[in-house]
Amino acid sequence: MAAMTSTPRSRPLLNRRLAEFGTTIFAEMSALAVRTGAINLGQGFPDTDGPEEVREAAVRALRDGRGNQYPPGPGIPELRTAIAQHQQDRYGLTYDPDREVLVTAGATEAIAASLLALVEPGDEVVALEPYYDSYAASIAMAGGTRVPVTLRPREGRFRLDLDELRDAVTDRARLLLLNTPHNPTGTVLSRDELAAIAALAVERDLLVLTDEVYEHLVFDGEHIPLASFPGMRERTVTISSAGKTFSFTGWKVGWITSTPELVTAVRSAKQFLTYVSSGPFQYAIAEALALPESYFTGLREDLRAKRDLLADGLADAGFEVFRPQGTYFITTDITPLGEKDALAFCRALPERVGVVAIPNSVFYDDQEAGAGLVRFAFCKREEVLREAATRLRRLR
Ligand code: PMP
Ligand code: GLN
Repeated sequence: MAAMTSTPRSRPLLNRRLAEFGTTIFAEMSALAVRTGAINLGQGFPDTDGPEEVREAAVRALRDGRGNQYPPGPGIPELRTAIAQHQQDRYGLTYDPDREVLVTAGATEAIAASLLALVEPGDEVVALEPYYDSYAASIAMAGGTRVPVTLRPREGRFRLDLDELRDAVTDRARLLLLNTPHNPTGTVLSRDELAAIAALAVERDLLVLTDEVYEHLVFDGEHIPLASFPGMRERTVTISSAGKTFSFTGWKVGWITSTPELVTAVRSAKQFLTYVSSGPFQYAIAEALALPESYFTGLREDLRAKRDLLADGLADAGFEVFRPQGTYFITTDITPLGEKDALAFCRALPERVGVVAIPNSVFYDDQEAGAGLVRFAFCKREEVLREAATRLRRLR
């Protein structure tokens, strides 16, 4: 039988809230990579696993029967304690592991549960554009209206216009959704920018959801959690995830830190999405968070070298390169190559030169702003990046 896309009464099966969201670009492009055998610099996942001792910790937990049955709803105490310790040691932020930390199925569930819990239908959610794709879908599932504020290139990086942000906050605004370090542009918001955002949130009494999954991947400048600014701790839900920091994206261990009231609200939604997840992996990530500083420095320095390697290769191939301050993505402009349609370019790239990338255009409402922008991931082995650069040079 042919796939049924509508009922006999011709009502589309996929509801109106989700109608604009087909297959995610990451799934489409990874499938294209598999089909063509191209080098996959699209979807952001490392091609080598994280630390051996963390993997072994997961094996041990599994063998010892820890986490094989439903873990506690908020997450295992060991992990909640490790998360609270991490926020304390790194940022001087104090969270009660029992009331102010919630473990989620990756950052993705943290985002969805937060929006489902905190947004009423019709509320506006102000988000930076380009936005990570699940933001738009989760806002839509919550019945909210997204109000994008576009990051625009200036002097080599994508910048936030604070006046534009201020203008975007209407009386219907409920929540500000931020992401720093920012996927896909690699922008790391500065102390001054964050202070201005915080002041606006306080002035307009907004809730803030801040996605900081790339907190350990900062090469220039520093990561400052938004929750550390005056008046912010009580209105901010901070999201992070083990996927990026420990190179185990398949384990889907994420978390939020916030006030008891906000954590309780988010848990109300989360318990009906997955209830719990990743039992044995929670034990392993509790250990991972306590790795010595040399681990975090090593990860950053390794990725910094890879960033520079791929950025130079892309520039050599004729792309305009926006060297990221953080994350493991490089955004490029393809117009110097005589191209202007990022999606068409990315769909053709595997056949042309054997490389897969992500069209940033799908992360924009303002189609013109994103038309010629393409993202490449550099969380890959050095020889893979070198080969990709060689192939991309054939575009010249
Ligand atoms: N937020 C951002 C900005 C991301 O890039 C990603 C993708 N890794 C996520 C959230 C989702 O993280 P997770 O895999 O932990 O669900
Ligand atoms: N966060 C990853 C990226 O930006 C993708 C995660 C996913 O496939 N949903 O590439």
